[in-house]
Amino acid sequence: MKRNFILAIDGPAGSGKSTVAKEVAKRLGLLYVDTGAMYRALTLKAIKGGIKFDDEGGLIDLAKGMDIAFKIDGEFKLSVQLEGVDVSEEIRKSYVTNNVKYVARIPGVREEMTKLQRKTASAGKGAVLEGRDIGTVVFPDADRKIYLDANARERISRRFKELKAKGYDVTMDDIEKDVMARDHSDKTREVAPLKKADDAVTIDTTGMTIAEVTERIVREVGNGA
Ligand code: C5P
Repeated sequence: MKRNFILAIDGPAGSGKSTVAKEVAKRLGLLYVDTGAMYRALTLKAIKGGIKFDDEGGLIDLAKGMDIAFKIDGEFKLSVQLEGVDVSEEIRKSYVTNNVKYVARIPGVREEMTKLQRKTASAGKGAVLEGRDIGTVVFPDADRKIYLDANARERISRRFKELKAKGYDVTMDDIEKDVMARDHSDKTREVAPLKKADDAVTIDTTGMTIAEVTERIVREVGNGA
């Protein structure tokens, strides 16, 4: 049986993935799946539950039993529900962000997350998934694959503005450290590292607006959705 339409968007932190993926999903009437939020929610769950990051078995069990749901309101604002509680704000805080790498590097955790992502994406006529390994591991046969990138300076400044706008007390220095450390751990981990799929279209979003990138992707998708 043919599965629904899948658009995979991968790229590093600050490449504009989340904002653009959400816009594209809205424009095309597709489901939006933020896979980073799943890894973040698991990290939060581990911290709250007192599970140590070197307890691989414990983290895999936690991933197996994870009850996560996404809700999108009329304005297309995403909220992330963990065990029925809205954790949208909490999972963006630095004590979560800085620790995601410890759960994201465990093969058994990634297996569970991949299953969850495939299942979540199967509802409806199609889905836009954004993350690091969507085009390479989660949906290697995605209908369209996009790899978003931008130079480091622009990615850092975007993250800074985004977090400031949300009222977080951050400095450019904090953000630079976070983005650089995450680039490094995401690209060098042994399992499912961030990399462009061979058949992905790369868009360098440096100097482009959200509307321009969205337009470019919608054009790329063409009549496929
Ligand atoms: O996209 P976001 O910044 O929310 O992702 C947070 C972290 O989750 C990433 O830095 C990465 O370590 C991990 N992640 C991942 N695989 C994905 C999505 C996110 O390993 N598909």
